[in-house]
Amino acid sequence: MSATTAPATAHRYVRSFREGRASERDLLGGKGANLAEMTYLGLPVPPGFTVTTDACRAYLAAGDVPDELAAEVAASLADLEEASGRRLGDTDAPLLLSVRSGAKFSMPGMMDTVLDLGAMPATVPGLIALTGDPWFAWDAVRRFVEMFGRVVLGVPAERYDEQLHAAVAAAGVPDERSLPAPDLEALARGFLDLTAELGTPVPDDPHEQLRLAIEAVFRSWNGSRAKAYRAMEGIPDDLGTAVNVQVMVFGNLGERSATGVAFSRDPATGEPVPYGDWLQNAQGEDVVAGTRRPEPLASLDDTFPQQAEELRGYMRQLEAHSTELADIEFTIEDGKLWMLQTRVGKRSAAAAVRIAVDMVDEALIGPEQALARVTPDQLEQLLHPRFAEQPDTPLTSGGAASPGAASGVIVVTAAEAVRRTEAGEDVILVRPETSPDDLEGMVASKGMVTSRGGLVSHAAVVARGLGRPAVVGCGDLEVDVEAGEIRVGDTVLRVGETISLDGSAGLVVVGEMPLIEPEPDERLERLLSWADLVRRLHVHGNADTAEDVARAVAAGAQGIGLVRTEHQFLGARLPLVRAALLADSDEAEADALSALEAQQREDFVALLAAAQGRPVTVRLLDPPAHEFLPDLTELRVAAARGELDDDRQRLLEAVEAHSEHDPMLGIRGVRLGIMRPALYRAQVRALLSASAELTAAGDPPLVEVMVPLVSTSGELRWFVELVHSVADEVEAVTGTAPVYRLATMIETPRAALTGGFLANFVDAFSFGTNDLTQLTFGLSRDDVQARFVPVALAEHTLASDPFRTLDAAGVARLVEIAAADGRATNPDLITGICGEHGGDPASIAIAHRIGLTHVSCSPARLPIARLAAAQAALEMEDVPAASS
Ligand code: PEP
Ligand code: MG
Repeated sequence: MSATTAPATAHRYVRSFREGRASERDLLGGKGANLAEMTYLGLPVPPGFTVTTDACRAYLAAGDVPDELAAEVAASLADLEEASGRRLGDTDAPLLLSVRSGAKFSMPGMMDTVLDLGAMPATVPGLIALTGDPWFAWDAVRRFVEMFGRVVLGVPAERYDEQLHAAVAAAGVPDERSLPAPDLEALARGFLDLTAELGTPVPDDPHEQLRLAIEAVFRSWNGSRAKAYRAMEGIPDDLGTAVNVQVMVFGNLGERSATGVAFSRDPATGEPVPYGDWLQNAQGEDVVAGTRRPEPLASLDDTFPQQAEELRGYMRQLEAHSTELADIEFTIEDGKLWMLQTRVGKRSAAAAVRIAVDMVDEALIGPEQALARVTPDQLEQLLHPRFAEQPDTPLTSGGAASPGAASGVIVVTAAEAVRRTEAGEDVILVRPETSPDDLEGMVASKGMVTSRGGLVSHAAVVARGLGRPAVVGCGDLEVDVEAGEIRVGDTVLRVGETISLDGSAGLVVVGEMPLIEPEPDERLERLLSWADLVRRLHVHGNADTAEDVARAVAAGAQGIGLVRTEHQFLGARLPLVRAALLADSDEAEADALSALEAQQREDFVALLAAAQGRPVTVRLLDPPAHEFLPDLTELRVAAARGELDDDRQRLLEAVEAHSEHDPMLGIRGVRLGIMRPALYRAQVRALLSASAELTAAGDPPLVEVMVPLVSTSGELRWFVELVHSVADEVEAVTGTAPVYRLATMIETPRAALTGGFLANFVDAFSFGTNDLTQLTFGLSRDDVQARFVPVALAEHTLASDPFRTLDAAGVARLVEIAAADGRATNPDLITGICGEHGGDPASIAIAHRIGLTHVSCSPARLPIARLAAAQAALEMEDVPAASS
């Protein structure tokens, strides 16, 4: 609501708690709106009023409070005085006020507060008359003068601390709580003198104190702490804060008083029992400051049974009303329970799931609301091992490339990873970057760290596929393979020393970190089953082997959106692809290809069977030569040293012949197929004969043959003819006509811009957003990303990492154009994303908006994709009703 909407009150800038509602957070701030709502519900809230954010905005714009404010505050104060039977500044029955900030979005501790306003030496007799406690009365004066001096008059906090410590030392007592009342009086008067000396005297008139305190809270909106916090949390700077002025109640009036904080359920586990801390004879800040050890809430019944029961009733009422976890502050003043604050409680990931699902079972919320209450990040925490605690000083950090956490001893070569693993050790493979040669080492390791490479580099893609945690592109990490050590600044670690990594947080730590292992969670499964009812996007898995397919299916994949066939030829099988790529005669090529075809056929039978009838999109070979050929520099060095035998000499010549300046833009994808048609024919034959074999066995798979890195419709025509002609061959041999669909990757801007033509040739488009991002930005996914993107983010020249979250304005625009043009040509066109963005929640929302058929991601991210797809559907409000 804004000032242009007629408020229920005659006031423009001030609202009584009795007039507001929870929905008015814009105007009343979060705290004020919730206090108003509790008042509305009839809960015992100390009377008060809210100076609105409108007033703050007017103050910030004009540099002064609006003219009407003083009269409105005075009238509202008169109400409080009437309600409480006390008066501000009165010497017989003085009223004390709290003046607290309260913005729309919580900014804990970032803005200012003044408590005990009105407590001055003149009101001490009245305070003693009300409470019978001189110590309490002078303590209130001391607290007020210090807060007012600090917040309103700018006196440095240390100056008060110095006096306080001196008083404590002179009295020979452990802390100020043990100071005798006369000493406290002297201290309070000393604080007044100090304030007058260093700032301005505290005004005697409490109405003037109130005016200045409200203004100081407004000012604190633009304090450096508050500004920094807003920048960090993305809170707009122009919202302003409200100020809540409320009758003070005291939890420190003796043994019949207490104060505490409480949650309506356990915020760590989600267990549906109230949880919290309380302290007898204390003020709120004593609980928070931790100077005394608070008691667990359960023990409140021992001392205050009736109030504890009343409190539980209020928490139930708040939960039933707000359908949320309630986080409250309460005070018992001389036996009377007061509710001082409520807000939606923060909770752990485990609690988020439990509370959401339990509340559905308790009929408090529906499944759709439950889905909105668990974030993809929380889900990620629950699915993978993670550090039990935040490390104080990480060794290094890099791209959070593959989720999960692990500890193990450092190895810097794949061979040693295999050797040590076989000997029973847990190892972490640390490499400058990984290549296909490292696959066995990666399989053997518990996790991987690289100093180079980005989120879609080889190490990252393979680690995700294998389900191993990985941190990539740690810029300050040096890996000295020869010396068997790694270095970060002055820290040197040898092979065999232990490190830990968290691939969700992108952190590497020296030593063994305690880990929290995920546990199977039946509630999480239910939540995901609701997500499946709500989402419109299908969710597929990227998987390269039968085991990966099985993992994807177990994680809820409705299909396999990308089989990168080159990954079937890493490690020990690498020579097969190399032989095929480097063959210098038809004969040599035919030999290499027949071996490759036989291996692939076997792989495909297992892989298709594991998919159990779900669609499987198999992509033909797409090896950028640098990922699959031996390292040219190493071979040249060996040649210079005279270490090459005849075979390796031939290898050097072949690698030189194939070497390219920029292999990512070179003979890869369909271009490789055009150069080496026999290679693609062998792959298609392997796939279609595997399919024919399963069909003959009564288990027909749903196969899609996909071609990578296409740019022109001529390339697609070439591909389609090739597949059809191989299908004829397979039919001739097996007697079964293979059934298959045809698909193209859309990975080049040209392909995206000509989708309307390309859709004439195929049944499906799969957006390879890794390459499409690389080519749209002209930003190398292998090296420039890791080095440049962090700097660009820090400099705000990039809004987000485009290799993690689909660039909405550029790359996503290309996806949208291609999908729309493609569907105009072929209304049944299947469209999906199979780049790493397929597992990123923000990118999934874009895929939903564009209306793609599916997203495809690594098995580890599938549950997140299911949730994110449901949340995207819910946010765009096109959801069919789900039921539990
Ligand atoms: C892509 O480019 O997005 C893709 C899925 O292919 P790859 O990562 O294998 O190049
Ligand atoms: Mg690609």
